[in-house]
Amino acid sequence: MRVLAIGAHPDDIEFGCGGTLLRHRLAGDAVTLLVMTTGEQGPDAEMRTREQEQAVGLLGADLRWGGFLDGSVSADGDAVRVIERVIAATSPDVVYTHAPQDTHQDHRATSAAALAAARRVSRVLCFESPSSIGFNPTLYVDIAGLVEPKLDLLRAHMSQVLRMGSLVDLEATESQARYRGFAARVREAEAFESHRFLWDPVIAERSSRAAIVLTELDAASSDGTASDRSPLRRFLDGEQSS
Ligand SMILES: [Zn+2]
Repeated sequence: MRVLAIGAHPDDIEFGCGGTLLRHRLAGDAVTLLVMTTGEQGPDAEMRTREQEQAVGLLGADLRWGGFLDGSVSADGDAVRVIERVIAATSPDVVYTHAPQDTHQDHRATSAAALAAARRVSRVLCFESPSSIGFNPTLYVDIAGLVEPKLDLLRAHMSQVLRMGSLVDLEATESQARYRGFAARVREAEAFESHRFLWDPVIAERSSRAAIVLTELDAASSDGTASDRSPLRRFLDGEQSS
């Protein structure tokens, strides 16, 4: 499988889907990260560039830069064209990017541009950031055993992790994995909003220890009564048909 993850700044992708990308790499998938800005204007840009390169080295992934200035990612044609070029070069089976609703303008712009550029990709999943608004996940990836390696990816972004008042908080990241895991009925998970997801039930059946836990079926029926649920769902729940 070929995987493309698109983030606005260094560390956004690792925070949003670092554990999921580690799972992809463990399965032998080719992973590319596209980071739209170096995260700072001025001399710190060089340090954050090095930190991002180090994280990508740990992950064993490829790295591309979008070339935008921090705070100035455009949601219009310029950013769409940059992302389209990377999609054309990497032919991803799945694209991960920011969820659309976020207080940071670069995150919103990156999400809008990525969703436009990935209009022909069959699987597009949106990850959360510390500045997400109203994030409402329906799709989860089990990252059991990968939380510490995920934290290592974030530790590569030392200037952010050590900065006072930084939103990259390793304890919070760990708690978040547990909290999302609880929602997905596993130990630890990363959560996604599904923009578009081509589901292959045969692949899921063959990987009995499935990585991906789809809860959309349950979410759709959670506010209904038992009689509103599909016969298949009731069968799986062990209920007698009446
Ligand atoms: Zn960011």
